Amino acid sequence: MVAGGGKVATRRLQRFLSEGADVVVIAPEVSEDIARQASHGDLEWRRRFAEDSDLDGAWFALLATSDAQVNARLAAQAGERRVWCINASDAALGTARAAATSTHGDLGIGVVSLDAPDPARVRAVRDAIARVVDGGDVDLRRHRPGAGRVILVGSGPGDAGLLTIRGRQALSEADVVVTDRLGSSAILSTLPYDVEVINVGKSPDNHPVPQAEINRLLVQRALEGKTVVRLKGGDPFVFGRGGEEVNACLSAGVDYEVVPGVTSALSVPAAVGIPVTQRGIATSVLVTTGHAGADPAAIAAMLAGATVVVLMGVSALPGIVAAAITAGVDARIPVAVIESGTTAHERVTRAALEDIARIASETGVKPPAVIVIGEVARPGLLASSVAATPTLRSSE
Ligand code: SAH
Repeated sequence: MVAGGGKVATRRLQRFLSEGADVVVIAPEVSEDIARQASHGDLEWRRRFAEDSDLDGAWFALLATSDAQVNARLAAQAGERRVWCINASDAALGTARAAATSTHGDLGIGVVSLDAPDPARVRAVRDAIARVVDGGDVDLRRHRPGAGRVILVGSGPGDAGLLTIRGRQALSEADVVVTDRLGSSAILSTLPYDVEVINVGKSPDNHPVPQAEINRLLVQRALEGKTVVRLKGGDPFVFGRGGEEVNACLSAGVDYEVVPGVTSALSVPAAVGIPVTQRGIATSVLVTTGHAGADPAAIAAMLAGATVVVLMGVSALPGIVAAAITAGVDARIPVAVIESGTTAHERVTRAALEDIARIASETGVKPPAVIVIGEVARPGLLASSVAATPTLRSSE
């Protein structure tokens, strides 16, 4: 129950909404925000002054009318009804404090002033603590044994800054980390020594562990009650076999969580200034793999002028180019090949479709690389007038 509809009520009730509360605002006039939220059905607005009986059945009251006496009267009534309340005009007359909070996975942090409220101060403390927790400096592994689970975490394309905050938190919770070579692995060196790190990726001197073996490993460690993070390059569900790992968890009755990642398919081009869609130039993008050679859907997309992004396509590139040109794709459309995007080894090779296979081989292009085929890969595109916002258009 919120009495008042001004600035204070508007700002503070957002929190209750975001936590899923049923919010009733009682005020003859309210801010534009509250009126809009009421019209969307996000909250209920009773267009009148608050009465004592409005407190009946409420769990919590925020008293934020412009009249301190009204707030005080409602606070007294709330007390009689055993309804917790915050009195915005005088905290001492209320029975509750709103903590400055932050959430970190299944962990919540709240900071309150014990004396006179000082919201900016408690927020500063909250922010400082949150930074430490999210920064990976706190060991968030469970001390009480619980049910084990598997968290699939997309680590982004390589730059450690492109791992999500939730991904970073999950790593701090991990008893076991099962990782590949791709993506941001620098982060692993920051884990406590007794976190078990299992590398299942390909490297020059070992063969990759078969997928069925990885699935077994994830399930087995989780059944031992451990929190297992499966760290994967990019996004777990983009050519990452994340779906198979989730299937293995579901079959074994193991809890799982998917933490989406920044996929290389979209982010590696973006990082070198190639937008995969651009108004007037490309309105669709198709992401495919080079593994199966020239995919008919990809060729059709090129013919239709869509952007085609090929992952795992370095060795398949000559075959894809030949199939595209045979199918009638314009041999002069631009192609960009970006190796090791967002890392210190990033390199971009550009050429027209008809030349790209030869040039890539001459320059020694090697995986991991993202191949972008389409007009969006044209050199200097974003500096040209083609990329400017059109003037005098009503289609914004
Ligand atoms: N799940 C990953 C893709 C895994 S398939 C994702 O969403 O990004 C592996 C392929 O991803 C590589 O062969 C390469 O095509 C691409 N890739 C991943 N990281 C890359 C990077 N930093 N630079 C270029 N290509 C990358």
